[in-house]
Amino acid sequence: MAVTDNDKGAKGITSFIVEKDFPGFRVGSLERKMGLRGSHSAELFFEDCEVPAENVLGDVGQGYVNALKILANGRAGLAARNLGSCQYLLDLSTKYATEREQFNVPIIDHQAVSHMIAEMAMEIEALRSFTYRVAWMVDQKEKIIKEAAMLKLYGSEVYNRIADKAVQIHGGMGYMKDYPVERFYRDARITRIYEGTSEIQKNIITGQLKRKYQN
Ligand SMILES: Cc1cc2nc3c(=O)[nH]c(=O)nc-3n(C[C@H](O)[C@H](O)[C@H](O)COP(=O)(O)OP(=O)(O)OC[C@H]3O[C@@H](n4cnc5c(N)ncnc54)[C@H](O)[C@@H]3O)c2cc1C
Repeated sequence: MAVTDNDKGAKGITSFIVEKDFPGFRVGSLERKMGLRGSHSAELFFEDCEVPAENVLGDVGQGYVNALKILANGRAGLAARNLGSCQYLLDLSTKYATEREQFNVPIIDHQAVSHMIAEMAMEIEALRSFTYRVAWMVDQKEKIIKEAAMLKLYGSEVYNRIADKAVQIHGGMGYMKDYPVERFYRDARITRIYEGTSEIQKNIITGQLKRKYQN
C-alpha cells in the first residue's frame, strides 16, 4: 500500500515485508510513463496474501509513523537528486549557449539568454544551500518534517523551471531526443507529484506552522 500524507485515518497500521513468492501477491503490467523510463513502475496486487508475523517491519501499529519519517528523509534525498539534475542542466545550457551562434554572436551574448542562465545559477545556489542545511539537520537527528516539505517543494519547482529554461536555451534542439534536455524536461515533471505533491507539501508546511498557536 502506498502511504500518503492524506492517510489521516491510517494511524495504527503496521508495515510488513511481503516477499515476491508469497501466495496472493502478484505484480501487474508495467505502466507507460511520460518520463522516468529507466525506472519501472507497476501495480502490486495483494489478494488474500498472508504474511508471517516474523515479517513485521518495525513495531506493530507504528507503520504510519515510520512511513512519515521515511517520507521526510526521502524528500531530502529527492531534493539532492533535483539539485544534481539542475546543475547538469545549467552546465549543458551554458556550454550550448557559448558555442551556438545566431545573429553573428554566441547566443549567450543575447541578454535574454544570459538572463535565463543567471536565473538558473541563482536558483541552484539557493537550492544547494537549503539542501545542505537540511542534510545537516538530518545528521544532527533533528526533526525535519517542515523543512523537508519546504525543500521538496522548492527543489521540485526549481527543477521544473530550470528544465523549462534549458529546453528554451537549446531552441529546436531542446525538443529533440538527440539532446538530453528533452529527457530532463519530462523527468522533472514527476518531482512535483511523487513523494507527496506540491499541494500536499504546502499543507504540511502550514500544518506545522499553525501547531505553534494551537493548544
Ligand atoms: C512514476 C511514479 C512513481 C511513484 N513512486 C511511488 C513510490 O515509490 N512510493 C509511493 O508510495 N508512491 C509512489 N507514487 C505515488 C505518488 O506518490 C502519488 O501519485 C502522489 O502522492 C499523488 O497521489 P495521487 O496520484 O493519488 O493523486 P491525488 O491524491 O488524487 O491528487 C490529485 C490532485 O489533487 C491534489 N490533492 C489531493 N489531496 C489534496 C489535499 N488534501 N489538499 C490539496 N490538494 C490535494 C493533489 O495535489 C493533486 O494535484 C509514484 C507515482 C508515480 C507517478
